[in-house]
Amino acid sequence: MTQPARVAVIGAGPGGYTAAFLAADLGLTVTLIDEAPDPGGVCLYRGCMPSKALLHVAKVLTEARESAEWGVTFAEPDIDLERLQSWKNTVVSTLTGGLGQLTRQRKIDYLEGRASLVDWHTAAVTMKDGTTRQVSFDHGILATGSRPARPAALASEHNRILDSTAALDVNRVPGRLLVVGGGYIGLELGSVYAALGTAVTVVEMTSTLLPGVDADLVRVLSRRFGAVAETVYLDTAVTQLTADDEGVSVRLEGPQVAREDQRFDEVLVAVGRVPNSEIAGLDGTSVEVDPRGFVRVDAQRRTAEPSLFAIGDLAGEPMLAHKAFHEARVAVETIAGHKVAFEPTVIPAVVFTDPEIAWCGLTEAQAKAEGTAVSIARFPWGASGRAVTLSRTDGMTKLVVEPETERVLGVGIVGTGAGELIAEGVVAIEMGATVEDLRACIHPHPTLSETLLESAESFLGLSTHVYKPKRLSSP
Ligand code: FAD
Repeated sequence: MTQPARVAVIGAGPGGYTAAFLAADLGLTVTLIDEAPDPGGVCLYRGCMPSKALLHVAKVLTEARESAEWGVTFAEPDIDLERLQSWKNTVVSTLTGGLGQLTRQRKIDYLEGRASLVDWHTAAVTMKDGTTRQVSFDHGILATGSRPARPAALASEHNRILDSTAALDVNRVPGRLLVVGGGYIGLELGSVYAALGTAVTVVEMTSTLLPGVDADLVRVLSRRFGAVAETVYLDTAVTQLTADDEGVSVRLEGPQVAREDQRFDEVLVAVGRVPNSEIAGLDGTSVEVDPRGFVRVDAQRRTAEPSLFAIGDLAGEPMLAHKAFHEARVAVETIAGHKVAFEPTVIPAVVFTDPEIAWCGLTEAQAKAEGTAVSIARFPWGASGRAVTLSRTDGMTKLVVEPETERVLGVGIVGTGAGELIAEGVVAIEMGATVEDLRACIHPHPTLSETLLESAESFLGLSTHVYKPKRLSSP
């Protein structure tokens, strides 16, 4: 049976379902294909949302433990893992169920199955019940996302060696957990287990946690994470990994490692993600795939095959849900005949650790590497009234500024709630704001958002809550 469809979307993660919903809203006939019963993809089923649900629990546990400082003491928490799991699963089912409802309301033809390409205008779908359906389309949008990377040295099917998906199933609290990879996924999930009572060790191959993020921001996180984790090894590699029924034997090699051979109860491998570009039939089209497995696309997210678009993790870095949302809109509007392009000035990034780190635009490290002259303004949260009331002065807001024009080129924030605060930086940069513009905007008091205003003031040497005698004499 061949169904006529204007748009077929393969993969129903943040990229795919956003594309399908917008295409339907613009009056196009849409088929959306995914193996899951409802849309959601990695983000909702095994990524952003379940991890944030667990991080919320970790935050509550941490605050309860630290509250004695404010004169409130709680008993040591009793953690019911079954209920924790079931709550996290409810978060997932509420969100994916909601997307399923929105799919039906929009009259999108949702096919629960796995798609392959027959040619550049036809997909074959192996349905969950084993039958096959053919979908013809004028435009196809490939949104098949990504999966955890498993380098050969760390590959193992043993159930004590986890990837991020398995680690989200918190049905036990291991005594000792080794997290391989000091990127955002390793640190977020490591934080969850540490809060639940696991002794967490992190191994990172490079010389810093969160490689690529400005060192002054990472330093603030490292201080707190270092106190929560059992050990953090930098410049260190895992050279051997052998799991048995009782645990995992690991060999660590690095300058800080005193004991090379160690035993852990479980190991979480979080060393990055790889795009799902092995779509059957893709090689029969003109679609080009780069050496890292990303599908090559132009500014409209069109592949080298004119009828096929690619979005989300499949279409390149940064592999983040909000990039996928935005690319979806560009691809669909292009299909609908609008003149649009994917040309964001900045794509924000957030690490939901405690404290959070968030940044957007040019980082200080990037500017240095490119030889771009920038001025930096920093506002330490010790001078923020709101941070003091929260007992969370471990934070900093910084601006990366173009010296001649005083335009804000980058914003970096470390501190509780940084992920919410960074949105102001995104708007400021996209609108071409200068530090004076930021300073001229009245920010509500007392909030952490004032740290953006005060970092602008601090750039001008005029921060109310930081005393800088030299600049004050010549405003
Ligand atoms: P995906 O979400 O990967 O969805 C692709 C879908 O396509 C999947 O459902 C897959 O099963 C399906 N599919 C693949 N091949 C086929 C086929 N042949 N036929 C049918 N269906 C197919 N990002 C953030 O922005 N913020 C976060 O806080 C965040 N936290 C994360 C935490 C974790 C633990 C992980 C693993 C990821 C996190 N991410 C986060 C990344 C985010 O999940 C991804 O960037 C996002 O899901 C990518 O969306 P996508 O639409 O490209 O694809």
